[in-house]
Amino acid sequence: MKVNFLDLKAQYATIKDEIDEAIRKVIEKTAFAAGPFVKEFEEEFAAVHKARFCVGVNSGTSALHAAMMVLGIGPGDEVIVPTNTFFATPEAVSLTGATPVFVDCEDTYYNIDPEKVAAAVTAKTKAIIPVHLYGQPAQLDKIKDIAARHSLEVVEDCAQAHIAEYKGKPVGTTGVMGCFSFYPGKNLGAYGEGGAVTTNDEALYKKLLALRDHGSSKKYYHDFIGHNYRMEGIQGAILRVKLNHLDGWVDARRRNAGLYRDYLKDVKEIVLPEEMPGAKHVYHLFVIRAPRREELQDFLSQNQIYTGIHYPIPCHLQKAYEGIAPGKGSCPISEKYADEIVSLPMFAELTEEEIAAVAEKIAEFYGK
Ligand SMILES: *Cc1c(COP(=O)(O)O)cnc(C)c1O
Repeated sequence: MKVNFLDLKAQYATIKDEIDEAIRKVIEKTAFAAGPFVKEFEEEFAAVHKARFCVGVNSGTSALHAAMMVLGIGPGDEVIVPTNTFFATPEAVSLTGATPVFVDCEDTYYNIDPEKVAAAVTAKTKAIIPVHLYGQPAQLDKIKDIAARHSLEVVEDCAQAHIAEYKGKPVGTTGVMGCFSFYPGKNLGAYGEGGAVTTNDEALYKKLLALRDHGSSKKYYHDFIGHNYRMEGIQGAILRVKLNHLDGWVDARRRNAGLYRDYLKDVKEIVLPEEMPGAKHVYHLFVIRAPRREELQDFLSQNQIYTGIHYPIPCHLQKAYEGIAPGKGSCPISEKYADEIVSLPMFAELTEEEIAAVAEKIAEFYGK
C-alpha cells in the first residue's frame, strides 16, 4: 500500500468549497496585503491561544526575526537556542547580528534541556528560544525560572505546535512572544507562506504591527527600520477557514499517534515518542528512533512508504555555523539522535489501514 508522508490534496478535498469561496472574496475585495481578512484571522488565532494579540506575518522565519528585532536583540548579544530544531530558529538570531548559543536536547522528549540552558547563560545572554519540537511543548516552567533568575526574555518557537498545551495552557504566551509558521506542511498550513507572533504585551504588539510594515504606523511615516513582513490577504482568509478545523485535525493526529503505538508496540528495536506529563502533544511529526535508519528508509520507500528525517544535521554542525558554534561533540545527544531518527507518515487524513501497513513493513524489516 502506498503511504504518503504528507497529503495536502487529501485535506483540500475535505474543505474545497469553503476555501474556494474564501479566496474569491479576497479577490473581489482586492484586500491582498494584510488588511481585513488578515485582521479577522489574527483575532481568532489569538483567541484560540488565549493571547491578547496576534500579528500575522509572511513566514515563521519572519515571525522569529521580528520577535528578536522588537526585543532589540543585536550584535554582541547571545540567544540560547536548541541545536535540535529547524535552521530558521538560530537563523533568526543571526539575522539580527546576535549569536545563537546552541544547547543539546533532553534524551526523552527531544526538546531543549533546561539543565543545559542554565549552564549556557553568560553576561551577554538576552533571550532563550525554546522550540516545541515535533508538536510537543518544551519544559516551559523550568525555562521561565532560569529566564527570571537572569532577567532574560523567553520567545517560544511554536512553528510545529499550534494549539499544543503545557499544563493546560496553550503555547504562545508563556514566553513574551510565541512565533508560529503556516508553511503548507505545518499543522495549520497556508496555501503559500505565512507566520504569526502572539503576545500579551500591547507595546510589543504595536511595535510588531509597525515592524511588518517598514517601521510605520502611519502610511509613509517611518519611525524605525522594519521590513515588509505583511501576511497576504489570501493566506489570512484561507487560514481562517482552516483554523475552524484545527481542533479536529489535531484530534486525528493524536488518534493516529495512538494507532502507531498500538501497531508498533512489539517492535522492540525502535523507540517510540513519549508524551511528557503535563504536555499536550499535537504530533506535527511522529518521530521514532531506529537502528539501521538508512536501510529502514530504503526498505520502506521500496514499499511506497515515504518517511522523513527531522533533522539530519543538528544546527551547530551546519556549514553556516562553522567557526561560530562549537563543533562535533558539543551536543552529543542531538548528534547521536540525528543518525537514528525517522519521521513516519503523519497527517490528519491518514487511515488506520495505512498506519497498519507502515507498522507491518517496519516489523517485517526487523524480521518479525
Ligand atoms: C517551519 C519552522 C520554522 C520556520 O517557518 P517558515 O514558515 O518555514 O519560515 C521555524 N522553526 C521551526 C521549528 C519550524 O519547524
